[in-house]
Amino acid sequence: MPNPCRLCHSPFPAVIADFGHTPIAHRMLRQAGEPEELFSFVLTECPACGFVQVDVPIDPSALYGGFNFNFSSWKTEPHIETELAMIARYCVLDRVVEVGCNDGRFLDLVREQGAKAVVGIEPNPVPCRHAADRGITVVNQMLTSDLAASIAVEYGSATLVISRQVMEHVLDVHGFLRAINTMLAEGGFLFLDLPDSAPALGIGDCSFLWEEHVGYYTRDLLERLLSAHGFALKNLQTFDFSGGCIALLAQKIGPSTCESLPSHNETTAISGFAGRVEAYSESLHKLLIHAREKSIRVVLYGAGVRGCSVANFLKLAPLIDHVVDDQAERKGLFMPGVRLKVESLDEIMKDPGRFLILLAVNNENDARVSEKIRKLANDRALIMTICGPADIDSEIRKMNRMIT
Ligand SMILES: [Zn+2]
Repeated sequence: MPNPCRLCHSPFPAVIADFGHTPIAHRMLRQAGEPEELFSFVLTECPACGFVQVDVPIDPSALYGGFNFNFSSWKTEPHIETELAMIARYCVLDRVVEVGCNDGRFLDLVREQGAKAVVGIEPNPVPCRHAADRGITVVNQMLTSDLAASIAVEYGSATLVISRQVMEHVLDVHGFLRAINTMLAEGGFLFLDLPDSAPALGIGDCSFLWEEHVGYYTRDLLERLLSAHGFALKNLQTFDFSGGCIALLAQKIGPSTCESLPSHNETTAISGFAGRVEAYSESLHKLLIHAREKSIRVVLYGAGVRGCSVANFLKLAPLIDHVVDDQAERKGLFMPGVRLKVESLDEIMKDPGRFLILLAVNNENDARVSEKIRKLANDRALIMTICGPADIDSEIRKMNRMIT
């Protein structure tokens, strides 16, 4: 029996996909035989409010314990300029707070736009230090109702609260939004950036699922959730970044005491998700078996979260010959679940044979990575993406035709 819905407390969420037990994606192994802990990954959908959520989230202390990484500086974010323009168009940049400010990069850019006072809240001490080096006041804590109240007293009510790529990690979403509401002045703005789950759920793409993302949001759900917390949506944009994301601005029009999202009766677009994942998995397995029969070596390009999700959720490990990653920090380590050593493209291309390269990088990097592979491999490499191909069937049919 699945757990009650975390947003509306309905006792009847339905399982929409059960991926069995999988390892934590960011926990790379030092040796192939190293033991690793596995966790159940079951996705449910609440029929009363439409929220898609991880049924049994991993205990945050196990998931985030031993912070020793700083992700923000690793990835490019092509949509940042558009987000800054959204903020500049609507907001008074007087007192700005960012929840989950990471290394302070975004807050620094908002300050360059003229924000008078900026404060970051960040539980991970490593990026906290980077943010402090930029001259940003950082509170090294998780956001709580007490912290929100004390920040409002110490720094004054904020005219803008920013939270980027945080809410999808949050278990107590109502507590999170109430705390943000507490920090904001009446008429102040909330800027949120989070993954857009609608496209991936619609096509059966499991590469966007991640054990750290315990909630999966769509535009419709966000509108209802923000309205319940005293916010009016002013602007919302979607971007084809990192599998799809939503950026929105909502204005505080009243206080929030919300503890439960009102239910709704609309049908959602995700029925059949498990079936679509299953069909894709079956076609992909057949393709990889076919390739290996023809002595084509299968390479997973990208040992990060998305590669890990697809490989483990679709149980591809026995069909992968090599794992490649551009990130220096991952070289020589072993990918969770798959247990193959992360190599460089140059190394594996010394093999004179043919390769089928499965791209597990964010879509915005597909072209750059494909170009790099072609330069090294010429016509020895077939390349396809396994992260959210819009037409999964035609991609696999094309590859099957090319394997002779
Ligand atoms: Zn619900």
